[in-house]
This record gives sequence, C-alpha cells and structure tokens, in this order.
Amino acid sequence: VVQLRDVRRSFVQGDVRIDVLKGVSLDINKNEIVALLGPSGSGKSTLLQAVGLLEGGFEGSIKLDGEETAQMDPGGHTRIRRELLGFVYQFHHLLPDFSALENVVIPQLIFGTSQSKAEERAATLLTNMGLGNRLEHKPSKLSGGEQQRVAVARALANAPKLVLADEPTGNLDEATADVVLEELMMMVRDEGSAALIATHNERLAAKMDRVVRLHDGVLT
Ligand code: ATP
Ligand code: MG
Repeated sequence: VVQLRDVRRSFVQGDVRIDVLKGVSLDINKNEIVALLGPSGSGKSTLLQAVGLLEGGFEGSIKLDGEETAQMDPGGHTRIRRELLGFVYQFHHLLPDFSALENVVIPQLIFGTSQSKAEERAATLLTNMGLGNRLEHKPSKLSGGEQQRVAVARALANAPKLVLADEPTGNLDEATADVVLEELMMMVRDEGSAALIATHNERLAAKMDRVVRLHDGVLT
C-alpha cells in the first residue's frame, strides 16, 4: 500500500537548517499495522505529514497504492487523501455541533456516498466501536475514549487503504488507550486496510504487526 524511498525533509529557520528526515524508506503491505516509534522531535509527525500528503517540501518517492505522488499537483493529493487515506490525531477534531453519527456521515457525503448508505455505514462502524447507544450524542457529551472511538470510525468511513494515526491514544489513560488501540487494530483488519501509527508507548507498539524506529532521521 505504501512505498517510501529516500524521503527527506529539512526545515530552515534563519540561517539554521535542521535535517529531520534524512532518507526514510519504508514499505507497508495491505493488512499490516506498523508502529512508528522515536523520541520526541525525531520526526514522527513530519513523516506522517509526508505520507498523508499534508505538507509539501519533501524529497524522495512516496507511492500510495502504486501511484507516485511526488510530482502530483495539489488536486491529485486531495483526491488521494480522500480516496485512499484516513486520519486519526491525538485530539479528536470532531465537529462539535454534530452528533457522533453525523461526524462519521459527513466525510462520506463529501466522498459522494448517498445519505442513506452513509448513515447505515456510520451506524455499523460506530456500533463496532461499541458506540451503538451513543449515535446521537454530540462530542461534548462523550468521554475522551468515546470521542477517540468516533474519530477512529470517522477515519474508516470511506474505507481507506491506509490509516495514519499520530498518537491516537496519547490523550487517554492507560486502560482506555489499550482498549481503543485494540479496537482501532480490529477495525483496520476487518476493513482489509493498513495502518501507520506513531506512538511513544513501547507496550502498545509491541501489540502491532511491526515496529519501526525513527532515529537520527532514518528508520531502524
Ligand atoms: P513528538 O513525539 O514530540 O510528537 P515528533 O517525532 O512527532 O515529536 P516532529 O513534530 O515531526 O517530531 O518534529 C521533528 C522536528 O522537526 C522537530 O525538531 C521540530 O522542531 C521540527 N519541525 C517540525 N515542523 C516544523 C516546521 N513547520 N518548521 C520548523 N521546524 C519544524
Ligand atoms: Mg509528533
């Protein structure tokens, strides 16, 4: 699903240049859940931004589902983000004025799915995340763990080939983090998707299929 070759990124501030990614290569296959570990500041979020086509300024080759994205225009990136990728962040970024169900319906409507199909899928995803009795709740009426479950369901709404998650359980207590991660992994597997999950948590990383570590700008 993902083929990264020699991905590089530097930031220049004033006359200081920091090389954050110094030639990252990584393959992720269908059904694979990969943990991305590395100390704070090692470039985990930067790498997820590269794969998520969220920022420019990267060198190297980023192939998603066989398509080279490096020379694509922004319209191509938007299309790939919408069709192939799902995102989960540390803070849920749910729409506060909409219910849990609507938060999972709306991305599908943007994708072009009909209202009835979108509602049916949203209800199924949320029920699979254990939120069958929370469909009409607004985010502020949900616990932190429940909010992250909605965020996971939303990420999977358009059946992405790849889920990118940046500290998806970083804001949860240990027990809740375990459960939400297990559910995320179960959903990714059920959907035949794949995932790259940045985390600081060695224990959670060990539950995933493979662990890669960012160190000094390269993966080990
Ligand atoms: P954390 O575990 O704390 O989330 P991280 O591994 O995700 O850290 P990044 O956020 O990717 O690390 O940052 C890597 C380095 O790149 C840091 O030194 C950071 O200061 C720098 N950096 C990131 N984004 C920018 C930017 N837009 N401009 C300048 N420097 C940046
Ligand atoms: Mg980060």
